Amino acid sequence: MKTYHGSCECEKVTYEVSFDLSAGTFKCNCRMCTKTRFWAAAVNPDQLKILTGKEELSTYWDNPMHHFCSHCGTKVFGLGKSPSGKPMMALVLATLDDLDPRELAQAPVSYFDGKHDRFDRAPEFSGHL
Ligand SMILES: [Zn+2]
Repeated sequence: MKTYHGSCECEKVTYEVSFDLSAGTFKCNCRMCTKTRFWAAAVNPDQLKILTGKEELSTYWDNPMHHFCSHCGTKVFGLGKSPSGKPMMALVLATLDDLDPRELAQAPVSYFDGKHDRFDRAPEFSGHL
């Protein structure tokens, strides 16, 4: 587990987060993930601390609820509930500022076929995600 810092593009929203990048990241081909080029890692919601700009965050959707900066539009994370009701947070990896790109390039990626509501399998192709 490492601690990183991140922000939205305009830097009104800044945060600190601790998680284990080597535990894996994910991409999905559903409409929302495709439109936002969503590449995320599951983090424990207790491990993400908004440092500034909490009041700048707007939300979209219900589960997961996407949180984005209302000023610059950068999506920072999604907050949802697992089927068992456990809170789950997906952090947008592109918002991390002090993560070495080489480290990110080596992180394992899982792909989900969200387009067909199949989150237990990879889509037929995923090179574009
Ligand atoms: Zn912003």
